[in-house]
Amino acid sequence: MVLLNEFSWSFSRASLFTECQKRYWYTYYGSWNGWPKTPWDKRKEIDPLSARLYALKQMQSIPTYVGSCVHETIEKFLKTKKPFTLEALVADAKDAFYEGIEEAKSGKWKESPKKYTNLFEYHYGDGVRDLKTSEEKVVACLENWYQSPVVQNLAFHPDSRWLSIEELAFFQLAGKYKIIVVIDFALMWRDKAILFDWKTGEESEKTEEQLALYALFANRVWAVPFDKIVLSPFYVAKNSYTKLSVDEEKLKKVEESVVASCDKLSVLHDTDIRDFAYTEDRTKCARCSFKEVCESVNYQNCSVDELRESLVNVSNSQR
Ligand code: SF4
Repeated sequence: MVLLNEFSWSFSRASLFTECQKRYWYTYYGSWNGWPKTPWDKRKEIDPLSARLYALKQMQSIPTYVGSCVHETIEKFLKTKKPFTLEALVADAKDAFYEGIEEAKSGKWKESPKKYTNLFEYHYGDGVRDLKTSEEKVVACLENWYQSPVVQNLAFHPDSRWLSIEELAFFQLAGKYKIIVVIDFALMWRDKAILFDWKTGEESEKTEEQLALYALFANRVWAVPFDKIVLSPFYVAKNSYTKLSVDEEKLKKVEESVVASCDKLSVLHDTDIRDFAYTEDRTKCARCSFKEVCESVNYQNCSVDELRESLVNVSNSQR
């Protein structure tokens, strides 16, 4: 069965396009079919360019990795649907954190880039000098989260009914666009739907837009009226969270801008890599996981075949 690369819109996809179109192409088109498949499929040759882009696409920087550890630990424990201790939560996160670091150090991710952790700092540099600080951030985020009223008073209260934990879900806009959302945690508290978003980074304006999209999803898919939706971004590193009601006027604008973004991005499907520009702000490249690809052709706007050939030459010269 052939898996089709069909267009679907997500907040991160649109942000990536704004950041660097070339990076967008690598992520959403170039890496397509680059994954190791089923044991039967593994006998087939995988395109080296797609495989390389697919592996680089999975790479995380240490701050993103800290965020992933926090999110994945919370998800794992919530999915048990049973109360748990802070000690168990923290011990599990620390184990997972160091396991990933070892995978990154050993290059185990080359066997399966999706399954094992690959970190930018180890691939492109000498590693992470101060792992203890990152470990402490993971622990502090989880302690703040666990000791908050969200966990202590709300999540396990008999009146709360859970709706979703990190579920990949979608809904339609303009009758034709598939919009992907992943809500960290959502529950019904009496007649209100509360949608949580755990953030390990800094506060940003984008959060509100992202939450507005979650509200649209809750309204269209779960049929929750807007006045019964509460949006709650929780900055776990800072230990601050807010509860926002839905502003229907703002929501309309967000919907319009998402549809406009879909109109623009959906037509780029399957077009030439040369139509996707390198970012003009090259300072972004210093922290980009695809930089070895762009540097291999000295940022020349070449075709897919030229890019593939150049990467093969670079790999051969490194042997
Ligand atoms: S290295 Fe720079 S130009 Fe290349 S994909 Fe990354 S951000 Fe874009």
